[in-house]
Formats: sequence, structure tokens, C-alpha cells
Amino acid sequence: MALARASLKPLNTMLIQEIIRKKRDGQALSRDEIRHFAQGIGDQSISEGQIAAFAMAVFFRGMSLDERVALTEGMRDSGEILSWDDLDGPAIDKHSTGGVGDNVSLILGPLVAACGGYVPMISGRGLGHTGGTLDKLDSIPGYQTMPSNQVFRRVVKDCGVAIIGQTASLAPADKRFYATRDITATVESLDLITASILSKKLAAGLEALVMDVKTGSGAFMKDYPDSVALAESIVGVSNGAGVKTSALVTDMNESLAGTAGNALEVLDAVKFLRGEGDRSRLETVVMSLSSELLVLGGLAKDRDQARRDLGRALNSGKAAQIFGQMVEGLGGPGDFVDEPEKYLPKAEEIVEVKSPRSGWVAHIETRELGLVVVELGGGRRRAEDRIDHAVGLSELPQLGQQVSEGDCLALVHARSVEEAGLAAAKVLIAVTVSDSPSSGQPVVYEVIEE
Ligand code: URA
Repeated sequence: MALARASLKPLNTMLIQEIIRKKRDGQALSRDEIRHFAQGIGDQSISEGQIAAFAMAVFFRGMSLDERVALTEGMRDSGEILSWDDLDGPAIDKHSTGGVGDNVSLILGPLVAACGGYVPMISGRGLGHTGGTLDKLDSIPGYQTMPSNQVFRRVVKDCGVAIIGQTASLAPADKRFYATRDITATVESLDLITASILSKKLAAGLEALVMDVKTGSGAFMKDYPDSVALAESIVGVSNGAGVKTSALVTDMNESLAGTAGNALEVLDAVKFLRGEGDRSRLETVVMSLSSELLVLGGLAKDRDQARRDLGRALNSGKAAQIFGQMVEGLGGPGDFVDEPEKYLPKAEEIVEVKSPRSGWVAHIETRELGLVVVELGGGRRRAEDRIDHAVGLSELPQLGQQVSEGDCLALVHARSVEEAGLAAAKVLIAVTVSDSPSSGQPVVYEVIEE
């Protein structure tokens, strides 16, 4: 009887402290309780202290798949949800957990658009040692990363892709929840990370999503089992919330592109789109994620057909052309793809890091390379910091690469000789050259499907 009465309780009379207590004691929360909590985060009716206590309870007690789906949907529903019903193709997207030299979004967006997908990509800024797509795009003069909703919709419709930043109206509960997690040692919860990432992606109104979960020395999740667990959680929750989703667990034990730094990575992406890419690992990740997305979105019958379509879109120059149209549609120069170097900022000093010995590149502390870029000014130490788009690293080494003493291990792009020297010393510590060749690492470890 008591149970029957409880289930009749209207949402707004549920006591927040009772919801926290239940989770603290290891009990499963109902869908209504979780949605009520998420709604309260978004509308400010729940205090920061209550959010912190809830986050810590989830951190220790965990959540079932049903609870995670409810939390994700509750946070998604805390703000506006975009709809793309007026388009004549599927709205599809990719999300990465982040890494170093990861400029895949800049390439994948136009490539998938060239194959009939619509990619309304809501991207983030750099986090810790990892770069952010929005910071990269900010290196293009005039490009608006925060356009009006009208401009965003027009560019997606006309070009098939628009890469922009998160507006305050999308999943506002996540913004508040994350800010509290960040200062209460509760970021590293698989359940909360899943809900945080997906609430924003689901609010973008997608039909299909492919996740790139990175693993290794430059990844947010370094350890392989943790990366797989996150990938499985995301696939389970996103499909549970009605979005067709797969995840690829990909290697981040070395920079993916040959560059790390904002303008440098944009230039690298444009070169790739123009058919001048020379990084086979980057190409493998781009093609694997893109083909998965075309299949999920119903644009290709299988991965082989998807790869053939993607190859044509790249080789014909169509994907590069779409990138150029997107840049122009969002306020950038009309000839950007033809002459990116005319527009991208350049650092005053370019200094070569020379290998101290002959041998093979055996280990790279990829996170350290990301931190070198941050220290050069290419990332933020505090949220309010301004970014220097010109600085970074290029000609980065690859694992297994053979080098002779004095060969170039990387180029440092810096504002001063002193800063370049400090960065070069750190690159040398981050890269280990050994006497014997090591076997190469796979690029894609696993594809996790529903
Ligand atoms: N990225 C997010 O968007 N949220 C998290 O919780 C962690 C990484």
C-alpha cells in the first residue's frame, strides 16, 4: 500500500534529500526520481551542495543502465532539443573523448556531408592537455563558432555540415552539474561522464552517433579496460535513448595528426581534405569512424560501400569544397581551402627538436606533448585564459619510426626563443628513442555495437 501511494506522489513533492539518501545507501533510483533531480539541476531548484552529494553518491554506488538512460534523458530535456525534420537526409555526428593532434572532426564533418549526411556538430573547447575543435576553428579569421540558431540551421542545410560551440540553451543541467563535479572530485565517474557527454549530443537532435573513445598515453581514459567500459556505457545509453550509436576504441599513444596546436591542426586538416595527407593512422581513424556513421545513418549498406563513397568524396575534392563552403557560410574567407596559409596565424619562432641518438621511437608520453602545447599558450590553464592559435608542434614523430642522431623529432612553433627552448626540452623527455624496433600498435582496437 505504501508503495502504491509513493508511486502516486507528484514529481515536485519528491524530497531531494531522500533521492540522495537512496543512492547513498546503494539503492536503484526510479526513472521519475532521476528525471526530477536532473530537472532541478537545470532550473536551479536544487542547491550546489545537493548536486555535490548526489555526484559523490553516484561515484561510489554507480548506476544501472536504466538509471544512466534516465539521467541522460533528464539532462537532455533540461533545455532546448534541436529538430532536423526539414532536412532530406539523416542528422548524424561523431564525438571523441579527446586527444592530442586529434583533428578528425574537421575532416569527418565535410566528408560525411559529401556522402549525403547532415552534420550539426556541437563541439567543445580544449580540456586539460587535449585540444578542442572550437579553439582550432577560432584560428580562422571571421569564422563564427557561436552563430545565431538561424545561421547554424542555414549552414547545415546548405553545406551539410556546421561545426559550432554549445549554446547555453542546450542541456543546461550538464553545464551546472559538470561545474560542481569539477570542484568535488567527481568527474571520474563512468555513469556521470556517459550522461554528460550524451545529454549534449542527444540535445542536438541526432539520428545516429559514432563515438571515438581514445585509449593510451594521450587519452582522457588511459587504461584500456576503462576505455572499453566507457565505450560500452555510451553505446548502451545512447541506443537506450533512441539514437543509433556505435563506439570505436582507438589508439592515443601518439599524436594522431602530425601536428598539435590550433592553426597547425586546421592546416593539417585542410591538407588532408585536399588529398595531401601523409598520416596513415589519421586516415584510418577518419575512414573507420566515417564509414561506421554512414552505415548507422542508412547512407551506405555496409562498411565497404561506405569506404568507397568516402574515397570518392575525398578524391574528387568534394569534401574539401564543402569545408570551404562551411567556413564561408560561418563568416570565414571564401578562398580559405585554396590558401589557408594566407589566413592562419604563424608563430615567430620555429625550432627543430633533434634526436639525441639513433634508433627507433619506442614510447611517446602523448599527454606531455599536449601539455607542451598548453604551456606554449595553445591551451588554457584557467577557463578564462586567451589562446594563442599560432603555437604548437609539427612534424611529430610516430611510434616505430627510425631516426638517426640529429634527425628532426618535432618542430616547436613558439612566440619566443626562450619558450621554444623550454618546449623542445620537454619534447625530448616525452619521446623515447631506443635501440631496437618495436612492433606497431593497432589504430582501431575494437568496434562496440549495440
Ligand atoms: N567530457 C564531458 O563532456 N563530460 C564529462 O563528464 C567528461 C568529459
